[in-house]
Amino acid sequence: MKISHSSHHHELVLKYAICPYYCPGCDQLGFGLSYVCSNDCNFFLHKQCGKPETQIRYPFSDKCVLTFRNGGSGVDSTCDACGKKIKGLHYRCTCTFRKRNLHPNCIGYERTLEPAYGLTMHLQKTAASKCLHCQTKDLSHRVPGWAYVSSCGTYSYHVSCVNEIINTNWKNGFFNGKSDPFLAIKQKFPEDKDRMHHLVVAQKNKKIKKYATAALKIIFNALTHNHLGHVGAAQSFFSR
Ligand SMILES: [Zn+2]
Ligand SMILES: [Zn+2]
Ligand SMILES: [Zn+2]
Ligand SMILES: [Zn+2]
Ligand SMILES: [Zn+2]
Repeated sequence: MKISHSSHHHELVLKYAICPYYCPGCDQLGFGLSYVCSNDCNFFLHKQCGKPETQIRYPFSDKCVLTFRNGGSGVDSTCDACGKKIKGLHYRCTCTFRKRNLHPNCIGYERTLEPAYGLTMHLQKTAASKCLHCQTKDLSHRVPGWAYVSSCGTYSYHVSCVNEIINTNWKNGFFNGKSDPFLAIKQKFPEDKDRMHHLVVAQKNKKIKKYATAALKIIFNALTHNHLGHVGAAQSFFSR
């Protein structure tokens, strides 16, 4: 699947990016299936930024319809999903009372993640309980931030918090091909387990900690498009 895009002088082809990247279309981090320069220029665009739909429905309301835009009044507003600034390409709704803005990539989050470890995680408009990473329910007083929440409602992670974990680990070099990303993320787990521990001190429940770890792993796998999700598979996945 090839496309031409005004942002680059070569054709772009839809394939797996060999590393995380910053998408010049929306200025956000990208992973996995993306539009990549067919001439090996190290140029990447999110799938949703390369070939956007003109109009989309807001996932949590039938009444709200968003239109794809390049610049304009939505720039410098906040993304409804991740709470980060809108800098370039984005979706903006036509509602009069409250304007919603979204990064194209944030539209692409799966609604329900493939069940694993006995957990099914669903994308929700707000966290059902305190996010296990940042320990708050809302990202800020203005933006609650979308979250993946387990069916039972006990385990929540903001999408942006898991993105941040991925981003931090990337900067620490875990995507450089030398180390296994899933070993790196495993080293990150104890920290989140500790946070979880503070939340559930009264319970001292091993099972809860196990599920908190599992929830993070499921979301991590979905956001990095690593559906294989097991240690060792990651390297070959990212170099495909
Ligand atoms: Zn993008
Ligand atoms: Zn190129
Ligand atoms: Zn709207
Ligand atoms: Zn966003
Ligand atoms: Zn959070």
